[in-house]
Amino acid sequence: MITLPKRILKKVDQEARGSGQARSDILERVVYEYYKDKLGPALSHVNVFEDHVTLQDEELDRSVDVQIRNGHLYCWEDKTEVCEHTQFLWELPKVAEELRKHGFKERVEGKR
Ligand SMILES: [Zn+2]
Repeated sequence: MITLPKRILKKVDQEARGSGQARSDILERVVYEYYKDKLGPALSHVNVFEDHVTLQDEELDRSVDVQIRNGHLYCWEDKTEVCEHTQFLWELPKVAEELRKHGFKERVEGKR
């Protein structure tokens, strides 16, 4: 149970009625907006090996292996070539450069 001043709840309920969202959805979004920048990125790059890259995923609270397979990145966590982990690696200039040098191609969403 969340206790907030009545006038704030009134405002939230107004927004809920106006937008058709649940009160809990609005409160969830506010909390998310407040914390997302304070927490920093959930993913961090850990290590590049011969055949795979290891990332730390703070959201999952464990490391994730992205394999370099047939010239593409393949995430073992999501069992796919296109996910937030493979995208994250391509967004790191140093890693992306290294991968391109080795002939790896970036997989674009929708071209699986
Ligand atoms: Zn993944």
